[in-house]
Amino acid sequence: MLKSKTLTCVAIGGVVLGVAVGLYLATAELPTTHAQGAQGSQPQFSPVKALTAREAYYPGTEDLAPGEMRITACGTGMPNARPKQAAACFLVELGNGDKFIFDIGTGSAERLSALAIPMDYLDKVFIGHLHSDHFGDLDALWVGGVISNRQRPLRVWGPSGATPELGTKYAVERMQEMLTWDSASRRGNVNTRGQQIELHEFDYKGINQVIYQENGVTIRSIPAIHALDGPVSFILEWNGLKLAFSSDTYPNKWWIEHTKDADIAIHECFLPPALLVEKQGWPVQDALNVGTQVHTSPAMFGKVMSSIKPRLAVAYHFFNDFDTRPEVERLVRMTYDGPLALAVDYMVINVTKDDIKVRMAVINEDVWPLPSVTAKLPADPSERIGFTEFIESGREVFADVIRKAYEDTNKRFGTNVQPPDYR
Ligand SMILES: [Zn+2]
Ligand SMILES: [Zn+2]
Repeated sequence: MLKSKTLTCVAIGGVVLGVAVGLYLATAELPTTHAQGAQGSQPQFSPVKALTAREAYYPGTEDLAPGEMRITACGTGMPNARPKQAAACFLVELGNGDKFIFDIGTGSAERLSALAIPMDYLDKVFIGHLHSDHFGDLDALWVGGVISNRQRPLRVWGPSGATPELGTKYAVERMQEMLTWDSASRRGNVNTRGQQIELHEFDYKGINQVIYQENGVTIRSIPAIHALDGPVSFILEWNGLKLAFSSDTYPNKWWIEHTKDADIAIHECFLPPALLVEKQGWPVQDALNVGTQVHTSPAMFGKVMSSIKPRLAVAYHFFNDFDTRPEVERLVRMTYDGPLALAVDYMVINVTKDDIKVRMAVINEDVWPLPSVTAKLPADPSERIGFTEFIESGREVFADVIRKAYEDTNKRFGTNVQPPDYR
């Protein structure tokens, strides 16, 4: 067996080598060919030139044109975590430099970090509703953003609820309370300017109400119908382009009226009930209720898109696999025959008035945070809360290696930071 494998390799190698030699001879024998280049007399076997058109998006390597919009899917999945798809999150970048995060579902902060954008620019979050799969990574963006050099406050917009404790303000304040130890522990150890949260709670019943208007960008909200009073959908308008994002909703009259003719309409499209039973393991009763009453089924999604006729309909909020996509698409196509993208994480959509291009991003899993866009300030040690004497008395101080770390690091960076004077 081993012998025959080896022989096969040799044989294949021989064929490849033979072809290469043949090509070389054929090229070398030709008096003039384009393979030899414009000026050259030397044959070129394999000119290495960048392709003019890119089939993939490599974060941080492409300018946006002044009138262009780029949307990156940073979460397209479900409340149950899976490696392939984080929960709801879409990043919208505009040619004027603005960036907006719509929903920040569990797992999505990791996706945002892969896009090689300074955290100072990822400072505006619009939350459609308070399900964890739509705001569960707000803490990761908040705390992790500070560690990743955000020095601006995090700005958060979200709807009120039927009662105050069902609103965004209540939720975000409790998140801050939950992280009381976390915040206290970082004081004096990292600069915490980015820890501030600027919170904007707006009326969930507002119909096409303006909730944001800066720098030529208008964002409006419309009510959504989903699980409880409170959820909303968003409409962003800028430079003659219109993007609508449903967050979660049952098909509704506000969406049909106000998102008509959107350039990009991103709308939830839940797994069909049969797959919720077979793949997700739910009882039939729950699959039918959640799949067609709490959420929008694929065929309902198609009806919605046939009503508003966007330039591109984007379906998300289902596990998008080789064995689910055909069924979802078949059901959508029963009721909609327009342009369609079935979203998965890292799908990238470039939009101009003339063109829409859909690609996948190729990310660097070894990504590091980018520097702050303003001079990075060190921590203020006077803010440090410190330890009780009980805990402090437990330190084993390896003064020699600590001193050496200070000396070596000071030498490398030309600084003069002194080690603490432990008792
Ligand atoms: Zn929801
Ligand atoms: Zn959801």
